[in-house]
Parts: sequence; C-alpha cells; structure tokens
Amino acid sequence: MTNVRVRFAPSPTGPLHIGGVRTALYNYLFAKKHGGTFILRIEDTDQKRYVPGAEEYIVKSLEWFGLTSDESPLAGGDYGPYRQSERKSMYKKYAEELIEKGFAYYCFDTSDELDTWRKENEASGNQGVKYNYLTRGEMKNSLSLSPEESRKLLDKGENVTIRLKIEPNRSITINDEVRGDVTFNSSDLDEKVIFKADGMPTYHLANIVDDHKMEISHVIRGEEWLSSTPHHLLMYEYFGWTPPSFSHLSLIIKPVGKGKLGKRDGAKFGFPVFPFDWFDTKTNETFIGFQETGYLPEAVINFVSLLGWNPGNDEEIFTMEELIKLFSLDRIVKAGARFDVDKSKWFNQQYIIAKANTELADLLKPMLVERNIDVTEDYLLKFVDLMKERVEMLPDFFTGGAFFFSMPEEIEEKMARKKYKLENRPHFDAMIEMMRNMQQFTSSAIETTIKSYISENELGFGAILPILRLGTCGTMKGPDLFETMELLGQQEVIDRLSSSLEVFTEIKNRQNA
Ligand code: GLU
Repeated sequence: MTNVRVRFAPSPTGPLHIGGVRTALYNYLFAKKHGGTFILRIEDTDQKRYVPGAEEYIVKSLEWFGLTSDESPLAGGDYGPYRQSERKSMYKKYAEELIEKGFAYYCFDTSDELDTWRKENEASGNQGVKYNYLTRGEMKNSLSLSPEESRKLLDKGENVTIRLKIEPNRSITINDEVRGDVTFNSSDLDEKVIFKADGMPTYHLANIVDDHKMEISHVIRGEEWLSSTPHHLLMYEYFGWTPPSFSHLSLIIKPVGKGKLGKRDGAKFGFPVFPFDWFDTKTNETFIGFQETGYLPEAVINFVSLLGWNPGNDEEIFTMEELIKLFSLDRIVKAGARFDVDKSKWFNQQYIIAKANTELADLLKPMLVERNIDVTEDYLLKFVDLMKERVEMLPDFFTGGAFFFSMPEEIEEKMARKKYKLENRPHFDAMIEMMRNMQQFTSSAIETTIKSYISENELGFGAILPILRLGTCGTMKGPDLFETMELLGQQEVIDRLSSSLEVFTEIKNRQNA
C-alpha cells in the first residue's frame, strides 16, 4: 500500500471515551502496519461544545496507551496546524468555491426562525423535517430570495451561513471497507450547514478540507459518521478531489441489554469507560478512569483491540507489535461488539502476572504513599511477587494483601470459632517457641519445622495450619503461608501469633461460657 496517512480526529468536547480509544488504536495499528503516518487532528470548530481540558486529556490518554502520533498539535508536522481553530482562515475560500460552482448557497434564517419552522412542521405531523431541495424554497436563502435581497442580507452580515446544495434522486455509494457498499439516495439527505455565522466551518467542511489537504489515505472512524459520509463524498466530487477510503467501526454495546455503551454505563455496571478520572463541571458528575481503577494500559489496549476486530486465530493475548503485524481492515467485524466487564478484568490479570516485578513495584509506589505505607524496595518486590497472581486490579494488592503492612484489626472470628481448640494452645505455644529458636527464618525452614511438629504430635494439618494463617494474617485468603511468614519476618510473626492466640482463646472461652 502506498503512503498510508490516517488521522484520529477527536473533538475536544469531553474526555476520550473507550470507543474513541478503539478508533485511535485501529488508526494507529493500520498506520504502523503499512509503515504509514498516524496523525492527531483536533477538531475544535464547534466553540459552543468546547470543553476546557478535553484536548489535554485526549493527548494524555493517547500517551498512556502508547499511541504516539507522528504529526499532531504538539509534535507538529508538514501539514499543520493540526488544530482546526488554528486553520480557521483557510476554510472560507472552499465554502465560497462551492457557492461559485453552484454547489452551495447562503442562508439567512436565524436559529429562532429555524426552530419555529421545525416546531410548526412537527405540529402538523411532519416530524424531522429537513432543509433540502423540497423545503429550501420556503426558507430565507440565496436560492429563494432575489439577488438584490440576498445581497442586502449578505452585506448586513447577520446570521449568514452556507449550506451544501444537493440535487435529488442521485444514488451515492460508499465503498466501505468494513460494511461493503452502502448506498444512499440524495433525496433523503439534508442540506447541511458547512459554514457558520461565526466564521467557522462546520465539522463537515473542515473535516474533508483537512483530510484532503493532509493527504489522508484512509478514514477509519465510528459508525455514527456513516450518515454524513454521502455529504462528504458529494463535496469531494464538487471539489474534484479523490476521496480517501472509508471504514466505519460499529458501536461498542453495553455489557447488558441493547444500545451503545454510554458514559454512565460505567458506574451502572462497575467499570470505567474513560482512561482517567473525569469531573464533568456541567453536571457535577465524576467518572472513574481505567488508570485509577488499576488497569494497565497494555491490558486495555489488548482488550479494546478485540472489541470489533478478529485476529483470525484463537489467541487472545497480543502485544502492540503483534497487533500491528496482524491488523487488517478486512478483519474488522460488522456487528457491534459487546463490552464484557469480566473479560476486561481477566486481561488485566494476565498482564499483571506477566509484568516484571520491578515495573509493578514502580506502579504501586504512589499507592503506598497514598496509604502511608513505608517499606523497603526489597520488601515491596517480594510482596509483589507473592501477590501478583492473586489480583485483577492494581488496588487489589492492597485489599488482598493488607496484612503484609499491618495486622488487620479484625480477625475473621468465624474461622477461629470453628477451627481453634483450647486444648491445642500448648502446641501453638510450643510452635511459637520453635520459631523463636530458628536460626534462619526461611519459608522452607518454617514449613519443615511446623509440619514435622504437626506429624510428630499427630495433630492434623487442618487443625493447625488455618489457625497459624489466621493468627498471622487475620484472614484465610492469601499467598503461601510459609512464604508470607518469611516475608513478614520472625519477630513480626511471633508477635502476631502470640497476640492472636490470646484473642482466639478469649473467643473460645466466650463461646463455651
Ligand atoms: N471530530 C469527529 C469526532 O469527534 C471526527 C469524525 C471523523 O473521524 O471524521 O468524532
């Protein structure tokens, strides 16, 4: 394939949704696979919907996922600027070119007039009325008014917009790489505004002018843009430009039920839909992020890559390099992909297990600070090694492994009541004494000592080991007991067991009373 140039073109109207992450990823994979260029273009022509901080958030998210752009507002490039607001001055002449060619016209309707027109139509049963070849004659525009009237309104310069002119009864076919041929009848299209009264182009004009000027070869974007594509194709034709190839990605569906995965589904189903926490100042809502939940970016990438793309084999774990090698547009699936929360957790677990202990330790360090936990590097690394197979999310290290940092205040009493026998107390005291006398407090030495004592005294593992675990960790869940003891250290284990035995004895006495 020659000279692949693709772009991810988000509008900074909010944080980057998981669907946007997928669009960016597929564009990135496609570019890298073909030795092409991955461009980040910020489409900020809609000033009303502009949200401060959204662009920074998008950039930070792409960085976190390792989706580095070759050309972008920050990295620059030969086709810049890469922020549409900074390209403002270049769009008007294209809108005017279409007017000159008779493919666009001026409109003077105010938004109030348009509203009233829409409402009146609705009231008379004409739902979803379109500004088009049928209705434009009843509106205020340069096609319905006399040239003098139009001139006057143009000179006045108020509420002047430009709309695309679309002739009816033409068949427009998109050769979509994902969906095959999708055909529209031009009679069904609305004559969209391409240039606004505020001097800014709309998405439609800016998008195609930029795709053309930036020499975009392939457009890979969400399904929600499919219905705009016939308008885009018409504009390519009107300008005499060759359109890029199009691929429209199907929606990501909610975990349960029908419909698109929305931003509020995260809270509802207990998972994030945004890379990082996001506070919506308009609604005062906080949305929680993948990072804060404890997902690793490479796990999210792997998981998201399979939401709507089929690698062609049964494997599930792919590094970015493998994805680049395998990716192809013809393996993108047409059906919507369902977001499976458990599967996303499974991926994260696999990536945590596979990750180097030192890297995990570095990720946990800020979390240690937050929790006021102070341990040595060596302790942290051993802790990571013991716990990593038992966690799904990074914070699970601290919920499941809390006892590595202090003895829990609450011991699981039920287990103590069930397993602890008062008559075994002398044996436990004897085992503590043996531990005190050990020269080397290693897991294998502790194991041999304890297990031989149990066998020699014919006590049964089931009566002793759970109590030792409970007495050391306060819970029955955790990694290998003897390795846990080694890491906690001789004195700590002896102290914990001694005081836990007092508690168990008291529980038992209370139970017997
Ligand atoms: N600015 C559009 C968006 O926010 C881009 C659509 C496209 O890729 O053409 O999704």
